[in-house]
Amino acid sequence: MPELPEVETIRSGLSRLLPGLRIESVKTDWEKSFPNSKNDVNRFLIGSKIVQVRRRAKVLIIDLDSKYSLIIHLKMTGQLVFRSEQAVFGAGHPSDSLIGKLPDKSTRVIFGLDSAKLFFNDQRKFGWAKLLPTIEIENIDFFKKLGPEPLKSTFKPEHFIERIRKRPNSPIKAVLLDQAVVAGVGNIYADESLWGAKIHPLTKVKDVKDAELRKLFKNLQEVLRLSIKKGGSTDKNYIDAEGNKGSYLTFAKVFRRQGQPCLRCAATIEKIRAAGRGTHICTNCQVQI
Ligand SMILES: [Zn+2]
Repeated sequence: MPELPEVETIRSGLSRLLPGLRIESVKTDWEKSFPNSKNDVNRFLIGSKIVQVRRRAKVLIIDLDSKYSLIIHLKMTGQLVFRSEQAVFGAGHPSDSLIGKLPDKSTRVIFGLDSAKLFFNDQRKFGWAKLLPTIEIENIDFFKKLGPEPLKSTFKPEHFIERIRKRPNSPIKAVLLDQAVVAGVGNIYADESLWGAKIHPLTKVKDVKDAELRKLFKNLQEVLRLSIKKGGSTDKNYIDAEGNKGSYLTFAKVFRRQGQPCLRCAATIEKIRAAGRGTHICTNCQVQI
């Protein structure tokens, strides 16, 4: 799955290319990838101009001047490839389709934009694009259930603490990964921020002090920002906006460093299971209560 920093990287890349372009055509060979009716497509998509590209959690939102928006979820293997005479841009799953001839057998939807094309490729077909009235987006179940964006300036440490504390008996890592608590936090960022705050991932929320949660929030924001700066993680399924691998994991302090020394205390990093996920910890720095 792409995580928040990868999708943010895609958003910022597409933001430089898409606004102002008019959607002239759309072609799809796989209905589930783009399930809208022909009628809606003709009325609200064809002929509309792209206004802006936004992100909510791990979902991209392309707003159109028809007051409709295209919502795109890349899921496991989705990628977006922009091609025009002036610019080539690929983001998402790093298959050869990013640089190869398109369309190819992974292409699900082709948006024709003035003299450019935007290809939505998705080998495993879990991703989707949907056309919705812009005003309704916040109200669809998928978005309504999402917690706040962790990097929004209005989201303060006390809001984070209040939301985490709603699940006092759950292990802290499970709560951190709960998209209804905070949106967009994935496995890498949970492990990195828990290590940074010296909290064992299996510690129950009620046993974590406010001061520790404050530290966790600070570490979470720092690690997300660092990753966005580096163009996302190098998890093998994702590459950055220009088609280069992100370099975040080379900066990871604990994630996938099992067997190597902790950068703080030199004890050996271990891999355990927490919240159903492979979890990386220093048992010396992160003591289970
Ligand atoms: Zn340590």
